[in-house]
Amino acid sequence: MAEPVTESPEIRVETPEPAKDVDGSRPGQKRAREPIFQLADVTVSYGEKRAVREVTFDIAKHEITALIGPSGCGKSTLIRCLNRMNDLIPSARVEGKVVYHGQDLYGPDVDAVEVRKRIGMVFQKPNPFPKSIYDNIAFGPRVLGMKGEMDEIVERALRHAAVWDEVKDRLKTNAFGMSGGQQQRLCIARCLAVEPDVILMDEPCSALDPISTGKIEDLMIDLKREYSIVIVTHNMQQAARVSDKTAFFTVELDEDEKNRTGRVVEFDDTEKIFTNPTDPRTEAYVTGKVG
Ligand code: ADP
Repeated sequence: MAEPVTESPEIRVETPEPAKDVDGSRPGQKRAREPIFQLADVTVSYGEKRAVREVTFDIAKHEITALIGPSGCGKSTLIRCLNRMNDLIPSARVEGKVVYHGQDLYGPDVDAVEVRKRIGMVFQKPNPFPKSIYDNIAFGPRVLGMKGEMDEIVERALRHAAVWDEVKDRLKTNAFGMSGGQQQRLCIARCLAVEPDVILMDEPCSALDPISTGKIEDLMIDLKREYSIVIVTHNMQQAARVSDKTAFFTVELDEDEKNRTGRVVEFDDTEKIFTNPTDPRTEAYVTGKVG
């Protein structure tokens, strides 16, 4: 049904204003965005072994935050803390505070299943269900009993994930018939279908070719208008291209010199991390001197 017309159709001449960013600030005007996550002294261990320790930084709303650093420094471990995926690993233990929208994410009355609905995750390897494209998207909304016309929910999610035009004529075919890049966008669509607040992406492009990677990167930049995104990537160009903030992790020998544990060396605006980092270890890593 057409919207009722509430304004007269006369032509108004307005002085154009400079475009506003999603936080309402003007270009060139920096404003600290509202934090969605606040991490304070977060340490994650598997059994006796600490994988990553004393992580403290805020993750802002409507930004893309990249976690970078050499293999084994705890990036995946940390991102899994943000939607309590580590709960599914029996030996994993999370210490410190993970605050989400002002609430302790690990508080006793927090439902981990609800958390994973609000904070969706996309993995390294696309993992569609062995079902039709349509049913992959409809699965979550059905399980959650979401209201609304299912065809519309499915179309909206696929459009949002920039894959609709490529699949709209074969929605009832098996998702395994899609290319890797399409499968990954399907997984993003599946995540969007349950209307999350945050999307976590753990190396989402590492199994994809450069063209599919470019599509996912464009999609991420589009999605941050509505969602907050955290991405683990080993691809520094990708972090530099898409993210607003970057946390650089490294692995260090503990004081007892027996174990190696991941730590954050530097967290800052991505531009600063890549052009003028404070710590020489960050500089060595981003310039490719070590890795
Ligand atoms: P990254 O993502 O930076 O490569 P990970 O978070 O995967 O790092 O790993 C950090 C450390 O934690 C590594 O030493 C790894 O072996 C260990 N680790 C990761 N997952 C598990 C697990 N499920 N059980 C035990 N140790 C793990």
